[in-house]
Amino acid sequence: MTTWTDLVNADAFTEQGLVVTNPATGNVLATLRDMSDSEVNAIIAEADLARVAWASLTAKSRAAKLKAWNDLILANQEKLAQLITAECGKPLAEARGEVAYGASFLEWFAEEAKRVYGDVIPAHAEGKQILVLKQPIGTAAAITPWNFPLAMITRKAGPALAAGCSMVLKPAEATPLTALALETLAQRAGIPAPLFRVITTTQPAHVGGILCASDTIRKLSFTGSTAVGKILMRQSADTMKKLSFELGGNAPFIVFDDADINAAVDGAMVSKYRNAGQTCVCVNRFLVQDSVYDDFVAKLTERVSAMKVGNGAEEGVTVGPLINQAALDKVEKLMTDACEKGAKIAAGGHRVDGDGAFYAPTVLTEVTPEMAIFSNEIFGPVATVVRFNTEEEAIAIANATEYGLAAYFYTQNLGRSWRVMQALEYGMVGVNEGIISTEVAPFGGVKHSGLGREGSKYGIDEYLEIKYCLVGGL
Ligand code: NAD
Repeated sequence: MTTWTDLVNADAFTEQGLVVTNPATGNVLATLRDMSDSEVNAIIAEADLARVAWASLTAKSRAAKLKAWNDLILANQEKLAQLITAECGKPLAEARGEVAYGASFLEWFAEEAKRVYGDVIPAHAEGKQILVLKQPIGTAAAITPWNFPLAMITRKAGPALAAGCSMVLKPAEATPLTALALETLAQRAGIPAPLFRVITTTQPAHVGGILCASDTIRKLSFTGSTAVGKILMRQSADTMKKLSFELGGNAPFIVFDDADINAAVDGAMVSKYRNAGQTCVCVNRFLVQDSVYDDFVAKLTERVSAMKVGNGAEEGVTVGPLINQAALDKVEKLMTDACEKGAKIAAGGHRVDGDGAFYAPTVLTEVTPEMAIFSNEIFGPVATVVRFNTEEEAIAIANATEYGLAAYFYTQNLGRSWRVMQALEYGMVGVNEGIISTEVAPFGGVKHSGLGREGSKYGIDEYLEIKYCLVGGL
C-alpha cells in the first residue's frame, strides 16, 4: 500500500504525460503533467520575482523556514522512503538513510545562511575604504539525477535558498515524484511557492535548453552524467551563467598489502553495492596488491554471495533493480567484453529473473586496463578486481582515467596514507573509509567529474556573487 500520495499535489497528475514506473515491478506509479514552454517560462519569471523579497529577509528568517522544511522531511521519513524505493528501486533501509542525509543539507545550510560574511580590506590609499559584499546570485536552476532523488535536490536547494536565491528544478524523468513531494513540504514549511518549483517534462533536453538560454537564470547546478554536463556547459556559454557540475566517476579502491583486509572488505561492500552500484562515488575498480589479492577476493566473494536481490520494498533485500533495461544491457555488454578478454567471474555475473532489471551482485577478477569495464562507469553491482605490485603502479593505475570524483584506499602505514592521499588526482579520498558523503564536507570532483563543491562551508559560495566596493572621499 502506498502511503506517500498525500505528499504530491493533486494538480501534478494527468491522463497523458510523464509516466513514472516502479523499476522493481514495472507498475505505473503515476502520470504527471508535461509542462509547456510557456509554463516553464512562467515558473522562471515567478521565481525571479519572488527572490527579491526572500533575499531581503534576515538570514535568521530564511534559516527558520529551511529548518522547518528539514523537520517536515524528517517527520515524513517513512513515506518519503517508500516513495524513493518505489520510483528508484533502492532497498527501503537505504531510502530511509537517503531521507536523513538529504534533510541534513537543509539543516546545515539553514545554519550557514547566518555565516555569509563579507570582508573589510585595508585600503591601498588614504581616505578610502574597501568593502567586499557577498550577495545572492539570483535565480538558480537545478537538474538532478534519479539515483538519489531526494538528496541531490536538497544539496542544491538548501544553499540556494539559504543564500537568498530562488530555484527552479528539473528532476530526472524516472524520479519526479520525490521532487514533487519535496515541493509540497517546502510549501508546508512556509517557503513561498515560487521560490522552489519543480518542472515535470517528457523532454529533458528541450527544457534544459530553455534553462540554459534564459538570462534570468544566473546559476545552473547539474548532477548527472559527464556527457550531459558537457552539453549544458556549451549551451550556457551565451548567457555566461555560473555553473556547477557533479558528474560521473570511475572510483579506484586500492587495497595495499599492509591493509586490514576485513576492514577493506567492509568498506568495499558499502561503497560498491549501495543502490545496486548506481552511485557516482561507488567503486568502479578494486586495485589489490598481489600478496593479498586472493585473500581479499575470497572474503569479498563470500560476502557478495550472501546478498539478496529483489524488490527493495521487501524485508531482507540488499540489492534492488537497476533503474531500467538499458542500464542492465550496459552492464551485460561490459561483462561480456571483459570475459572475452580474460576476466573471471568469482560471484554473480548474470541477470536475475523478475519483472525489474535485476542483476546479480558480481565479483569479476583478473581485470586489466584493456577491458572497457576498467574505464567506463559501470553503474551496476559489479566489482572489478585488478592486480598490482607496487605503490607507484597502484597510483598510476588509479589516476589513469579522465574522471576524478572519489577514490579510496586501505593501508595501516601512516607514511603511505599521506603519500597516496596527496598523489590521487581526485576531489575526494577515503582513507580506510568506504563511505565519505556527509553534509559537513565538500563534495565534488576534478577533471571530467565536475566543477564546484556541494555541502560544507564551501557549498553556499556557489550561489553567491562577490561585490567589491571602494568607498572614497572619507
Ligand atoms: P543523466 O545525465 O542522463 O541525467 C541527469 C539529468 O539530466 C536528468 O534530470 C535528465 O533528465 C537530465 N538530462 C538528460 N539529458 C539532458 C539534456 N540534453 N539537457 C538537459 N538535461 C538533460 O544522468 P543519470 O543517468 O540520471 O544519472 C547518472 C549519472 O549521474 C552518472 O554518471 C552518475 O555518476 C552521475 N551522478 C553524479 C553525482 C555526483 O555528485 N557527482 C551524483 C549522482 C549521480
